[in-house]
Amino acid sequence: MADTATPKPGLQVDLSGQVALVTGASRGIGRAIAVQLARCGASVAGVARTKEGMDATLTAIREAGGTAEAFAANVAITADVNRVVEEVEARFGGKIQILVNNAGITKDGLFLRMEDDAWDDVINTNLKGTFLFARAVGAMMMRQRYGRIINITSVSALMGNPGQANYSASKAGVIGFTKTIARELASRGVTVNAVAPGFITTDMTDSLPDKIKAEVKERVPVRRLGSPEDIADLVTYLASPGASYLTGQIIAVDGGMTC
Ligand code: NAP
Repeated sequence: MADTATPKPGLQVDLSGQVALVTGASRGIGRAIAVQLARCGASVAGVARTKEGMDATLTAIREAGGTAEAFAANVAITADVNRVVEEVEARFGGKIQILVNNAGITKDGLFLRMEDDAWDDVINTNLKGTFLFARAVGAMMMRQRYGRIINITSVSALMGNPGQANYSASKAGVIGFTKTIARELASRGVTVNAVAPGFITTDMTDSLPDKIKAEVKERVPVRRLGSPEDIADLVTYLASPGASYLTGQIIAVDGGMTC
């Protein structure tokens, strides 16, 4: 039996004329999201720490007939985030309809031995980065009375995971942040939701020993690891105009792990 999902064309919604800013778009889940949104007609602004890191994503999008451009920013740095949002607005006609806060890192270790840097780096990238980008586009989305913000959290925030105190805390923070700003923005046509991936095959999980991967698979009711495209499909729906009555929700895409 195949280990990952059968490749599929991906959910099709009409996003033509829209601009989607996707952080952490250089690989993994972010790349799959960027490609999928572009296939649906959105112009994609892909953010990673270097523009060169975005090359493979840009190629994939352009080969699929889509439009995309790369922007460099460290999501944890306010000046970087504000600059990139200004650059994206200047490049794509002043409006951003879709923001996907996907950039994230892990620095695992048991909490009793965790260094301050491992805590700070993970919180700053995963949680502060989400706040910074949402703040940078929030006012404009309110003015245009339309927006879709999708934050990528994790099942680690829902269940806890030994060795990931910093990561689980950052992703649990994303959940509280999502629910709060969903309430603040709802009356202006801006929805805010979070997607909680389970165990997805990307660089982030690649380094785990095969034994751990086999154990994870045993814990997943559908008996396979997820693919980045499994996440991209839900993000695409949440990004669509049709998802206007869905806000403040945390949706796990985890093969049933947390059910
Ligand atoms: P990945 O393959 O390691 O990719 C991480 C992405 O984030 C890269 O594009 C990286 O870009 C970017 N990034 C990291 N730090 C950044 C920073 N400071 N500024 C800008 N960009 C930064 O990870 P992934 O597995 O696709 O994960 C994507 C998201 O899903 C993360 O938020 C992760 O926590 C979450 N998630 C993943 C899993 C999983 O099983 N894989 C499960 C649950 C949740 P550069 O390195 O090129 O800058």
